Amino acid sequence: MTARIIDGKQVAADMRAELKEKVAQLKDKGVTPGLAVVLVGEDPASKSYVTAKERACEEIGIYSDDNRLPAETTEGDLLALIDKLNKDPKINGILVQLPLPKHIDEDNVLLAIDPAKDVDGFHPVNVGKMVVGQDAYLPCTPHGVIQLLLRSNVKLEGAEVVVVGRSNIVGKPVANMLIQKAATGNATVTVCHTRTKNMAEHVKRADIIIAAAGWPNTITADMVKDGAVVIDVGVNRVEDATKKRGYRLAGDVDFEAVKEKASLITPVPGGVGPMTITMLLYNTVQSAEKTLH
Ligand code: NAP
Repeated sequence: MTARIIDGKQVAADMRAELKEKVAQLKDKGVTPGLAVVLVGEDPASKSYVTAKERACEEIGIYSDDNRLPAETTEGDLLALIDKLNKDPKINGILVQLPLPKHIDEDNVLLAIDPAKDVDGFHPVNVGKMVVGQDAYLPCTPHGVIQLLLRSNVKLEGAEVVVVGRSNIVGKPVANMLIQKAATGNATVTVCHTRTKNMAEHVKRADIIIAAAGWPNTITADMVKDGAVVIDVGVNRVEDATKKRGYRLAGDVDFEAVKEKASLITPVPGGVGPMTITMLLYNTVQSAEKTLH
């Protein structure tokens, strides 16, 4: 069997078109969704993520409020900015690009964001609501994974899912979403990590594999059941002398071999990646919609 490729770019484009429509409807009602993006310092990767997020906002009509601060900004000054954005009615969502410079305590900053504007879904209030199944902003990458599965008509109810990775931003939340008693869940979930014994034995049982370990070739073809659905969250730089920049991007899955066994598989790049920003836009629109009620 050769797997069908889940085209994350296409799913993301479809969702962004739907969101653009919602933004137009909100504007007709006098509400322009606003996202404040906060970047501290000059990290080139962070700068390019922030630029991509701002561009995505503009494309669908979300007002983006750009806050670029020097690396020497104090924690106090950053907290003061967040307080101002929390109170600003034009702003429905606040995104602080991580990592922050070492002299700033990330936890203090994330806790300072009003949970009602926490469109990254990292505030403990939103994490707690997600776990107990209440309405919450869902973290963007794991929510993007769920949307890719649902929009590819993958049946989650009763499925055996193995998640590889237990980070707070991917592994734990995606596992949590998948066990919820809801149409977006109802799966049976196993979470593997570096202390798991015989990881291959767990992965071999999976109808759906979600790889979020951060190492190339963590999932090899011998670990994959025929017909499994494989979602590769990993983004890793692999040395490649044939490329001008000296490296290429690879996921956590041995894509070429695994695609011969899987029924559906996401590529890297072009799978989960485009969904992350899309879900940020989704949460910002959701936040703006709440101001109407
Ligand atoms: P992380 O914080 O480094 O967590 C990695 C997790 O994987 C840890 O729980 C670790 O276990 C586990 N792990 C590592 N190697 C393993 C192995 N060989 N076997 C089993 N478990 C293993 O990483 P993250 O932030 O979750 O990100 C994971 C990957 O997704 C990275 O490549 C990252 O770049 C990518 N990512 C992509 C997007 C996107 O938008 N596409 C967004 C976020 C992250 P321990 O807990 O035991 O250490």
